[in-house]
Amino acid sequence: VTARLLLGRPVADAIWAELSSSLPDLVARLARPPCLALVQGTDPAAQAYARTIQRAFERHALTTRLHDASIAHADLRHQLARLSRDPDVDGVLLLAPLPGGIAVAEVVDALDPARDVDGLHPFNLGRLAQRRPTFVPATALGGLRLLQHYDVELAGRRAVVVGRSPIVGLPLALLLLDANATVTVCHSRTPDLAAVTREADLLCVAAGRAGLIGMNYVKPGAVVLDFGTNPTPDGSLVGDVDAAAVAERAAALTPVPNGTGSVTTAVLATQTLAAARARRGA
Ligand code: NAP
Repeated sequence: VTARLLLGRPVADAIWAELSSSLPDLVARLARPPCLALVQGTDPAAQAYARTIQRAFERHALTTRLHDASIAHADLRHQLARLSRDPDVDGVLLLAPLPGGIAVAEVVDALDPARDVDGLHPFNLGRLAQRRPTFVPATALGGLRLLQHYDVELAGRRAVVVGRSPIVGLPLALLLLDANATVTVCHSRTPDLAAVTREADLLCVAAGRAGLIGMNYVKPGAVVLDFGTNPTPDGSLVGDVDAAAVAERAAALTPVPNGTGSVTTAVLATQTLAAARARRGA
């Protein structure tokens, strides 16, 4: 077998096309383009992600604003509260890692959940757990959109998610549960990981460990989503899945790069528009 490659770009293009068709009406109602505030520190990976978002938003006639997160903990909370009241801002994204070792979880509750377009606020994660409409972390929702785009059957299938972070693994597990998959979540304390992952019809990996998933972790014919983005010494990126080996066993696989990561920004834009629409009652 050589697995079918599930590319992210066509999925992102379809999301952007859908979004662009509804944009003129929203811009007319707002009397300005929708705007996402990016709150970031000095971490190079976070800054690179912010630039990717800025470029994509500008290409599609959406705006972004940059805000410096290199301030004291209390000031950062005030900044998030201020941005939550700013009439020119529709969504706010906190780019981790934040400076000074501040964890996103320590400050995110200062944000109005209605502006939390990357679903980091406990209120929004709670709504997701209750299977109610809400903002969802864009990487996780991007994974679901990719599966839907490629018509991957979810209802009644065995899904295994490796990773339980509130930004990727956990919300993805909740989305798959909502899509009626039977979901198992693995983490660093899971004994004999391969025995569990080999049960999966759908294997989603978000561990941040290069090459963690080899061929003997995968059931023949499985669909494998790789969320890992691990920098290599030569400056390229590799996933958590040993793609060359796993491609011999899986039916389909997302590459790294050009897989799940390509969908994230488009989903973030969709949720920014939804936040703008909700505020306008549109
Ligand atoms: P994280 O917060 O470090 O969480 C990693 C998770 O993987 C944890 O739950 C951890 O278990 C688990 N884990 C680590 N090593 C493991 C092992 N050997 N076996 C089983 N589970 C293991 O990372 P994250 O923010 O979720 O990100 C995960 C990966 O996704 C990273 O490579 C990150 O760069 C990437 N990412 C991609 C996108 C995208 O758009 N594609 C967006 C965000 C992140 P414990 O809970 O027990 O520690």
